[in-house]
Amino acid sequence: MIAEVIVDVAAYPIDRPFDYVVPSNMQEVIECGSRVKVPFGPRKVLGYVTRLKTDSDLDEEKLKSIDELIDLEPVLSPELLKLSKIVARETLAYEIDALQVMLPAAMRGKYEKFIEVEKPYEIRDAALLSFLNGRTRLPLKQVTDSALLKIIKAYAKIGVLTIDTAISQQTKVKKVRVIHIKDASTLQTIDETIHTNAKKQKELLDWMRRHANKTVVAASVLKEAGVQAPVLKALIEKGAASEEHVETYREPDAPRLRDTQLPLTLTEEQKVALDLVNEASDKNSAKTFLLHGITGSGKTEVYLQAISHVLKQGKEAIVLVPEISLTPQMTSRFQARFGGLVAVMHSGLSAGEKYDEWRKIHRKEVKVVVGARSAIFAPFENIGIIILDEEHESTYKQEDNPRYHARDVAIWRSEHFGCPVVLGSATPSLESYARASKGVYTLLELSKRALNQGLPSVTVVDMREELKEGNRSMFSVELAEGIRTRLQRKEQIVLFLNKRGFSSFVLCRDCGTVVQCPNCDISLTYHRANETLKCHYCGHEEGVPTICPECESEHIRFFGTGTQKAEEEIAKLFPEARVLRMDVDTTRQKGSHERILRQVSEGNADILLGTQMIAKGLDFPNITLVGVLAADTTLHLADFRAAEKTFQLLTQVSGRAGRHELAGEVFIQTYTPEHYAIELAKTQHFETFYHMEMAARRQYGYPPFFYITLIQFSHEDLMKVIDYADKGATFIKGALSPDTFIIGPAAAAISRVNNRYRYQCLIKYKKEPKLIDTLQQLIKMYRTNWMKDGLLMSVDVDPSSIF
Ligand code: ADP
Ligand code: ZN
Ligand code: ZN
Repeated sequence: MIAEVIVDVAAYPIDRPFDYVVPSNMQEVIECGSRVKVPFGPRKVLGYVTRLKTDSDLDEEKLKSIDELIDLEPVLSPELLKLSKIVARETLAYEIDALQVMLPAAMRGKYEKFIEVEKPYEIRDAALLSFLNGRTRLPLKQVTDSALLKIIKAYAKIGVLTIDTAISQQTKVKKVRVIHIKDASTLQTIDETIHTNAKKQKELLDWMRRHANKTVVAASVLKEAGVQAPVLKALIEKGAASEEHVETYREPDAPRLRDTQLPLTLTEEQKVALDLVNEASDKNSAKTFLLHGITGSGKTEVYLQAISHVLKQGKEAIVLVPEISLTPQMTSRFQARFGGLVAVMHSGLSAGEKYDEWRKIHRKEVKVVVGARSAIFAPFENIGIIILDEEHESTYKQEDNPRYHARDVAIWRSEHFGCPVVLGSATPSLESYARASKGVYTLLELSKRALNQGLPSVTVVDMREELKEGNRSMFSVELAEGIRTRLQRKEQIVLFLNKRGFSSFVLCRDCGTVVQCPNCDISLTYHRANETLKCHYCGHEEGVPTICPECESEHIRFFGTGTQKAEEEIAKLFPEARVLRMDVDTTRQKGSHERILRQVSEGNADILLGTQMIAKGLDFPNITLVGVLAADTTLHLADFRAAEKTFQLLTQVSGRAGRHELAGEVFIQTYTPEHYAIELAKTQHFETFYHMEMAARRQYGYPPFFYITLIQFSHEDLMKVIDYADKGATFIKGALSPDTFIIGPAAAAISRVNNRYRYQCLIKYKKEPKLIDTLQQLIKMYRTNWMKDGLLMSVDVDPSSIF
């Protein structure tokens, strides 16, 4: 028997399965989708069995054998194996990357080198003998002395010892000790043998009698019976109970917020939407729906009831939400409805917790997974519905190999299972809305808020006017007034600022110099907390200069505004307000996100100040005022999606106000009030925005009128990167059809990161059947030759931004 194995050796020029002989003792049990340990060159690596066959095209005498079968139960189903091929092909990634992305990190294997002493009696070297001290196997990393390492190498050469690579799973199954208590009559018999002086043993036995025939966790026995471990041990030895170590799960202790348990009575619009989705799942139809519903229109309730429907048919559901909106508030709504049937996957979990959630899905102990992007690969085998909430979010696209978009993967999987996909958003991506308009997706509309509240009233404040009036503060007169009244009325306020840190950059007022990162073509960000300048691209840090590095002027000052700066201003203007700040800097610690939200929900804060993190999902009845401090920050990015992103963000943030009985008010502060993205966010007229933005996209030839693929090149040597970018562009031009546009090569918007120069090339096309093959050839040239010369090249089909 021969197995085709994809090995864990990325960056290898050849991306294909290798044949290995299956030893006879494995033939009965090996299956496709199992992990194996195989020899590869001088190393031992992890691999995935993708096919089993009876013979190989190669000389079977020369084939190596599989060393070890890691999984008796395959970890990847035939469907996921098939999917990995599609992902690898469509995103131009290595197959190994496509396979690994489907599994929790803990299962991807960690390599550790061991010294294995084969012939201890042949070792003469005193230093080595004393180091080994009788051991025959030990991790190589324990050898820190280089002289000793040299001796070890020499012995390895003559076969006295070998250096072996062991693959260990990074996380182990967690086990817990339980005891099975015997029946009452056995306990009675034992009781008679215990001396009356052994009071503690008698006590524990009494406790056991009350719990005869039960299985309990050992630790809780000690606590409840109030005895020490040796007492329990003595009774186990006497036969009062038997003990066992059983597998358990790490339970992430997410605080649960209150929610309704029962399905709500749907509004007319919700019912229409639900019926169409249910009809598709009844017919096993792989239809994609776009659920366009304004904020607060009850999209989540539609998801919940559509899931109930497929669960009744014995099927499973995947719900994707953007990482930052995976709040306890969001997940608890699913847990409240489906209880223990829900697994939650997000980046806040430890590797062990993620592994446990994955095992629950793999063993079919849960039926619903709520998670961020990678949960799209949940190992269910009977999927009945896939939901992407906030489908327009760019976090659904992975920015690293394999560069997949969760929406595409959802549609591929739905075609396999014959199940519907529901894409939900208040501000759909232009691509999805265009597809819905053309009938590729089925459009479902929720135009009213579920509780019939009106949309909040939105005021756009022109900050240029404020400046003219002599107001230099970050707060316009109107917004400050609004905050003051809310504080008096004991209502809550959300302030949104799309920037972290204290202020964005340090500028010399005399010569205009902005302090730049020495490694990157980008200005440094000032961080007040530790008085440093930081580069958010390469991590470079330096102290704050007191004089301008260019002209030595002392008129150097912090410019712009960040969350820390805003916090200080609030403290000055409203000293009585209790402020919580939520940004990357305050939520680094595990659980801090939840803690902040809990404080807001319990009314322990008046003002929540934050970055995009607070734009989504928040649903607190007492929030009646939302202020956007600077709406322009996303508008001036060198990105064709800048207007779309601004509109989405403003709509999302505005949607946080007045979701319940109390009416909401929103202030958007801006220096460009006339821009249509800001103008239209005021009325939340998605459709008008859609038409205007589509006109702009058509004019400049951007998606959804054209597809785009971005090829980026980087090298430490500027001349080399230009040279390779030219070579790449010339090759593509020659291979693709004349209707396809190739823009560039040109320097990227951020032309240097971490001392590497960056060039890029944009391919625009309507229909390009030769695209994938051409790109594959380009990648082959890169992997076989260019890479060796220090070039890095990435190919991103349908990039989420083109920096
Ligand atoms: P969305 O996901 O569209 O922003 P939600 O599902 O969060 O909207 O709904 C907004 C609010 O309306 C929530 O508090 C929710 O419980 C409530 N809600 C949704 N549907 C109904 C309904 N049919 N009847 C009563 N309340 C509803
Ligand atoms: Zn200067
Ligand atoms: Zn940098």
